[in-house]
Amino acid sequence: MKKLGQHFLVDYQLLDRLVEYGQILDKDVVLEVGAGTGELTWRLAERAGRVIAVEIDEKLVEEASRKLSKYSNVELITGDILKVKHKIRGFNKVVSNPPYQISTKLMHWLIMSLPERIVLTLQKDFALKITSPPGSKKYVYTSFLANLFYKCRIIEDVPRNLFKPMPKVDSAVILMERIDGEVIPGEEELKLVKILFTQKTKKLRNTLKTVSERLQLSFREIEENISEELLNERVYRIEPLRLYKCMETVIQLTAKMANGNLNT
Ligand code: SAH
Repeated sequence: MKKLGQHFLVDYQLLDRLVEYGQILDKDVVLEVGAGTGELTWRLAERAGRVIAVEIDEKLVEEASRKLSKYSNVELITGDILKVKHKIRGFNKVVSNPPYQISTKLMHWLIMSLPERIVLTLQKDFALKITSPPGSKKYVYTSFLANLFYKCRIIEDVPRNLFKPMPKVDSAVILMERIDGEVIPGEEELKLVKILFTQKTKKLRNTLKTVSERLQLSFREIEENISEELLNERVYRIEPLRLYKCMETVIQLTAKMANGNLNT
């Protein structure tokens, strides 16, 4: 079934390495998205305290549950991850070979859930987006989001012939390690960044002008509070944390303005 992205990893040593990269301990709760026949799942279950595995295809769930019957620490959920995700909580690590067609949505949700460590096989092009630095052509909103919270790198290239059936694209394993810090994702701030990235090669000054109109914020306020040098930089060249902090300032200014307006 092509639309479910069913390409199973048939290199068992690679499956073992995915578990290694996860540095799984018995206190860990590991999420696996797209469990397939459970080949990666049982390997995770050997090490983890608990494994939450999600698989959309009922036939595969049946096969996987036979394989996993001796592991009492596996919770196998049948369903579309994008529909059941709100029910899934409490995982601190992610190790998966997920379906590629949902990569972006899956990645956004995973990042916002802020697990400590994420190990995924991804389409090579998508992995490169996640790992490319600010200023690179490949740097998009998802790259910003990933790099705001995680140290991201490709740890292994995976040629297409390690999957069955063989996909048309090459893959890579990425490792994302959570950066210790105080940033807790603010919805408003991230919404703004997303808007800025729709015109990512423009200077921050120009995109913020448009945004300030929407927010009913005078652009003068922004100019007074954000450095000239930053305003002259192109959106996709700005370091993620710096861009995020700048959005915090904009949101604070908006709140202040709104209060001011109420008081007059
Ligand atoms: N982890 C397995 C299977 C990878 S293939 C292995 O490495 O062998 C990707 C798996 O994701 C398939 O089993 C497919 O049925 C499942 N899948 C596809 N879309 C899904 C979705 N939206 N939610 C959960 N699982 C999905």
